[in-house]
Amino acid sequence: MGGIRLRAHHLLCIHGFRGQGYSPLFVANMARLVDRLCANPRTQINLVSGADDVCSACPHMSDGVCWRPDQKVDDLDLSVRTKLGLDDGFTGSWSSILDTIRDRIDPLRLEDVCGGCRWLDLDYCTNGLAKLAGLPLDDE
Ligand code: SF4
Repeated sequence: MGGIRLRAHHLLCIHGFRGQGYSPLFVANMARLVDRLCANPRTQINLVSGADDVCSACPHMSDGVCWRPDQKVDDLDLSVRTKLGLDDGFTGSWSSILDTIRDRIDPLRLEDVCGGCRWLDLDYCTNGLAKLAGLPLDDE
């Protein structure tokens, strides 16, 4: 089985996934990707710019372009990629990316990286990334 292609901001979104998304197909695809990464942290990730294996099942994607009106996804990608210090085209294991996220992302200051994302206020990502970092956050 080949690697998973991910755009930079999805490296963080994955930690906030709670079975919600833009369509049933999107949710099913995302759940499958998340399950795969949980089951095998050695899965290879190819960092891409533009559409990835999450976008491929998204109703906002057309002709390889994200048409979601309320979000500047390319800006989010650049912000996350810069914060993580990963070059476009990076290839590495999911576990190595988790280490980088633990080192470089402060879950309690996500607005510095993901400002403008409409999912941010739900705190799903904050709580998911706090769990990754081993912080004692209660999200119930
Ligand atoms: S909203 Fe845009 S960036 Fe997000 S998954 Fe859909 S197509 Fe990809």
